[in-house]
Amino acid sequence: MFLDSPRLRRSRTRRVFALSFARWRTLFLRFRWPSLVAFFMAPRSLPTPPLVHKVGLSPVARVRVRTGVPEAAERVLRAAALEVETGALDVAGADALLCLLTDRIDAEFLAGAPRLRIVANMAVGTDNVDLAAAARLGIAVSNTPDVLTDATADLAFALLLAAARRLAWADRYVRGGGFVGWTPELGIGLDVTGRTLGIVGAGRIGRAVAERARGFRMEVLFHARSGGTPLPELLERSDFVSLHVPLSPETRHLIGARELGRMKPSAVLVNTARGPIVDEAALVHALRTGVIAAAGLDVFEREPALAEGMRDLPNVVLAPHIGSATIATRARMAEVAAHNIVAALRGEPIPNRVA
Ligand code: NAP
Repeated sequence: MFLDSPRLRRSRTRRVFALSFARWRTLFLRFRWPSLVAFFMAPRSLPTPPLVHKVGLSPVARVRVRTGVPEAAERVLRAAALEVETGALDVAGADALLCLLTDRIDAEFLAGAPRLRIVANMAVGTDNVDLAAAARLGIAVSNTPDVLTDATADLAFALLLAAARRLAWADRYVRGGGFVGWTPELGIGLDVTGRTLGIVGAGRIGRAVAERARGFRMEVLFHARSGGTPLPELLERSDFVSLHVPLSPETRHLIGARELGRMKPSAVLVNTARGPIVDEAALVHALRTGVIAAAGLDVFEREPALAEGMRDLPNVVLAPHIGSATIATRARMAEVAAHNIVAALRGEPIPNRVA
């Protein structure tokens, strides 16, 4: 009777629970949690049947890659078991397109691409793509931000320095045999260190240019839609103005005759964003008549054509849209665009989706 008392029963139950708790605790601590996490986080290889099922139209999804895209893209796409065709802008049978910023992807083009799931632009700007039409047709659009930020900021600063210190003129002068001896006035340019830099578009590239300017002890002003220095004030106060906004209906001709007129006669304009942000005819006039001192341009309004009179100006440094043109940057851009395509065709979230 004593052995089966309710008190003893309670104590036995407590002991059993205590033991099993200790056992559970040991099991929990000994379990290889990192392996479990790694298992769920590991990227899955892309088996062909599920992909075919998702795409639903051909045994293997087909990707059109534009001629000139670095090979790095093809490696990523083939590793994901996708069929790659390199060539002209022809997407009649393609499930994905890896295109260039020079490709005009408008509503008519998209309507002729019935299988297309994604347009992966190898650029951060997507002004060459009709985003609204793509959205209407259920076609995703992606870009390649971040990987080109430093290269483009480097070029913006190179143009700023080249325009201020008349580097293109100096090179031509020496090659042309004009350099017959040092004189105090030869090649006089503008100071950069300690001057004021106005950055229009305070995004990734704009901020990266500001980082470089700090090394030159420059005062930096920012203008963006979301705040900063109002554009007229920035133009009036800056010795250098560098443009880093995307091209949109809002930013087309953001810098025209009136804005150039607000700048100092000693000021330099740098454009590595998109050509149509500047009214190029107005800029030619401003450079010719001394409204501003100089300009450094990587992009043009009607690229690759130049506005009339531009090529004859001695106070402008011209580059052929090479902002992101370094070997490593271009390879990374191609890879990023390819990864966007792989994600889209797998039905996964697209890392750099813009529409
Ligand atoms: P981002 O990070 O998106 O920055 C864009 C900035 O512009 C943002 O700060 C945005 O801020 C501002 N902005 C947008 N619309 C504006 C407006 N109407 N007025 C004032 N500010 C405005 O882009 P990112 O990566 O720096 O690239 C910028 C551009 O550089 C790209 O769109 C591309 O066209 C160009 N780019 C050129 C080259 C080349 O080879 N030359 C290479 C790379 C990029 P709020 O939204 O707050 O206004």
